[in-house]
Amino acid sequence: MSTSDRNTTAGDIAAGDITGGGIAAGGHEQRAARRERAVRAAVEQGLIGTEEPVVGLLDVAGIRESAAALRAAFDEVTAPGTPVLHAFAVKAAPLVPVLRLLAEEGVGCEVASPGELALSRAAGVPVGDTVLDSPAKTPAELREALELGIALNADNPQELARIDAAVASAPSRSPLGLRVNPQVGGGSIGALSTATATSKFGVALRDEGARDWVLRAYAERPWLTRLHAHTGSQGVPLELMAEGVRATYELAEEINAAAGRRQVDTLDIGGGLPVNFGSDETTPTFRDYAQVLRDTVPGLLDGRYGLVTEFGRSLLAKNGLVLARVEYTKSAGGRPIAVTHAGAQLATRTVFVPDAWPLRVEAYDAQGRPRTGPAVAQDVAGPCCFAGDLVAENRPLPPVEAGDLVALLDTGAYYFTNHFAYNTLPRPAVHGFTGGPAEPVRFAMARPQQTVEELVAESGGGFRDAFTGA
Ligand SMILES: *Cc1c(COP(=O)(O)O)cnc(C)c1O
Repeated sequence: MSTSDRNTTAGDIAAGDITGGGIAAGGHEQRAARRERAVRAAVEQGLIGTEEPVVGLLDVAGIRESAAALRAAFDEVTAPGTPVLHAFAVKAAPLVPVLRLLAEEGVGCEVASPGELALSRAAGVPVGDTVLDSPAKTPAELREALELGIALNADNPQELARIDAAVASAPSRSPLGLRVNPQVGGGSIGALSTATATSKFGVALRDEGARDWVLRAYAERPWLTRLHAHTGSQGVPLELMAEGVRATYELAEEINAAAGRRQVDTLDIGGGLPVNFGSDETTPTFRDYAQVLRDTVPGLLDGRYGLVTEFGRSLLAKNGLVLARVEYTKSAGGRPIAVTHAGAQLATRTVFVPDAWPLRVEAYDAQGRPRTGPAVAQDVAGPCCFAGDLVAENRPLPPVEAGDLVALLDTGAYYFTNHFAYNTLPRPAVHGFTGGPAEPVRFAMARPQQTVEELVAESGGGFRDAFTGA
């Protein structure tokens, strides 16, 4: 079974098979041990309780390790002196302290909206380490990026025409490229497959006339110096991702041959490394992917091209968890149900597409000690008012009691940072944790829980009489 199609059913996920990793032996065990200490400390230090019944926790040392593993993986396969920018896909964890931490680890930002760009700037990420890639950039966004000198990849011919006009009226330092869709095919999750024949992203390279159009576009624009493709995300096998990169590399070679010079000097290969949600193992690793790239596209790494990567999920997922209180336990139709405070508001994909996004759930007592005992199949429900608000269905877990805690593991990317405002539930607080085995766990808040006043304000509280005219 390949890594990427492993997580297709919830029943499968306890069985994750284990392949070699690039992370130091035992690294995942240390990460799991840090997580257990953090759960206990979160209770002891009052981070979670009746006032704040759900929190997001991030492993600061784990994030540093993941960034170091990413850097090392590409250092190992690229010729000495190759410029490599690792730009974190901000949408995976849009929190300023996270972006700051990654910047300290030499990782920049890939942004896709004015909000994400503002976050990267608030984090102090240098403009030279920032890449803008949205499919729907407005004229104002383009202007801002060009004025700042931020690298950007045009998504389509209409956008390129806007950039033409902008650079004609004011020269820009921005490295400029074009996003292509190599149409190499999709993975096991349709909604995350960016390189299908009909994907909305980039210029569809295999469509009739498209390749010639791209060649002409570069011939007419000596300032187009980059090519971009992001061909995967969760569910796409490494080999398919590498095929997408190969197609992009071959196009760059063709453009450069036609130009008679190295017009395209940088390839942005996107992100998309899948994450193992079935166990604590980090698999596949950045190293696994870098080796597949080396075998599939050796010319990419021989020093003639600079590289940009845009990983999101694989940098953060295994470094975060959601911790939630069990408010009640009950039983219906013979099925035990734990009603918790973690549901669709933060595990949106898991709740709505449970087969594609199963999560591991751990049970703890009210002191944060792991619950043991014979597993009983139970539903782990969230607080939202619809029947499908379940983060795990019929899942074997030690029996839990009201006041216990459950943890949703591997949720550091795209979960508690991507809130869904159903039932006007507040965005939970997020805390980073540090501390070794022999020292106390220290928490630093990255974001407070949203207040009721904030919820009212963002729900039109200041416009009470807007429709009644009073
Ligand atoms: C979402 C996205 C990424 C990051 O994808 P992950 O699967 O989180 O690594 C990178 N680049 C682009 C253009 C994206 O849209």
